[in-house]
Amino acid sequence: MTDLTTPQWDRTQYTRCNTYGHSWFDYDNSDWTPLFGTPLVLRCERCGTERRDVIGSQGQVIQRNYSYPEGYRYGRGERPDRAQFRLMLLEQRIREARAARGEAAPAARRRGRSA
Ligand SMILES: [Zn+2]
Repeated sequence: MTDLTTPQWDRTQYTRCNTYGHSWFDYDNSDWTPLFGTPLVLRCERCGTERRDVIGSQGQVIQRNYSYPEGYRYGRGERPDRAQFRLMLLEQRIREARAARGEAAPAARRRGRSA
């Protein structure tokens, strides 16, 4: 299985978006203006990814680009598939539930006993 983390970035903050898809809301981005057409920008409330569409006079999408937060993207051939993201999310949810109950992670408890 692909190594799902990198030394530079903890990608767990993006696991929900990679599993469910982004959670879009309307976003007026004054930093981006297309050369022609009408801009239609959406932003993800979880990860901050922006989807920047250019809409033509007939309502057609002329252009679509995504602007991702640093650390979101994977290298060629490194991106886990949806099933792998689902498993990562299930593991993450268990860790989050334990943390919410104030329980230590299993690895931390093992270290504590052996010390
Ligand atoms: Zn997202």
